[in-house]
Amino acid sequence: MSVVNRLLKTALPLTPKFIVRFFAKRYVAGDSLEDAVNTVRRLMGEGCCATVDVLGEAVRNPELAAQAVAAYREVLATIIERKLDANISVKPTQMGLGIGEDLALSNLRQVVAEAARLGIFVRIDMEDATTTEATLRMYKALRQEFSNVGVVLQARLRRTLSDARNLGQEGTNVRLCKGIYLEPRAIAYEEPEIIRWAFVHALEALFSGKGYVAIATHDEWLIEQALALAEKMGVPKERFEFQMLLGVDPALRRIIVSAGHKLRVYVPFGSHWYPYSVRRLRENPNIIRAGLEAFFRR
Ligand code: FAD
Repeated sequence: MSVVNRLLKTALPLTPKFIVRFFAKRYVAGDSLEDAVNTVRRLMGEGCCATVDVLGEAVRNPELAAQAVAAYREVLATIIERKLDANISVKPTQMGLGIGEDLALSNLRQVVAEAARLGIFVRIDMEDATTTEATLRMYKALRQEFSNVGVVLQARLRRTLSDARNLGQEGTNVRLCKGIYLEPRAIAYEEPEIIRWAFVHALEALFSGKGYVAIATHDEWLIEQALALAEKMGVPKERFEFQMLLGVDPALRRIIVSAGHKLRVYVPFGSHWYPYSVRRLRENPNIIRAGLEAFFRR
């Protein structure tokens, strides 16, 4: 990483909110559900489908967790009313995991039950490693009652190959990603090349299992590896999809869609955009650099 990028990464938490918003708006559909609807419609016009995320995390107040449940109910109703090709993604700490696992599970159950009634799939996002065990436990509890729920594995974590084997055998619908949260070396790989290979190995374990796999990456090398692996293992197109984040590499998105693969875009919206945006910008400080260059060239 260049010195400029390193400086940008360090300075980001100190940057005023309006500046973060300026650079981060490409990653977020907008503040309102209507903004998300318009974005999903546009993506559907490009041959993509979506997973809608109501921004919010690290909720410490049960009232706020209840508000998040209500917001998701509204999203679910809107997906049906507006005929959107979309499902939803939900964060455990937004459902109250930081307050207690029972509360989070009960809130998640309400969301999953309503989604089941409407025939919509729910993805439980994976947050930092302090939440992994509880998230998998909640997923498993919900899976006993509902079939419309799936979870996420992060290739960065050393435990993931074993989780992928187990969940794959159980027929779980898994989103596999690299993992955005930086974790201690004792539990996570740090080198990008090792994370890439860990992703390939976890994907192989999932393909060997019985479940559906969502391959969430913008790393073209990994996409190529995934396609080669699917062909080698005889995994049909109907058993996997690709997933990308809103605002990241639309050209690659078009390449995947025109090759005839299912491509789902993660569409976050809402007023709690700040922590999500900071994570995205930290991940790719080149965005800030390109933005600043364009700004000063005007
Ligand atoms: P990278 O090597 O990071 O990126 C590959 C290329 O993509 C880069 O060279 C760059 O050109 C481009 N790129 C990547 N990120 C950005 C960016 N922010 N801005 C601009 N360009 C970029 N992580 C979790 O921990 N838990 C989750 O539940 C989770 N859900 C996800 C859902 C989806 C649909 C996706 C796509 C990602 C999700 N992630 C999640 C994030 C993921 O773990 C990675 O942090 C992120 O996808 C970047 O990794 P990459 O595989 O794209 O590879």
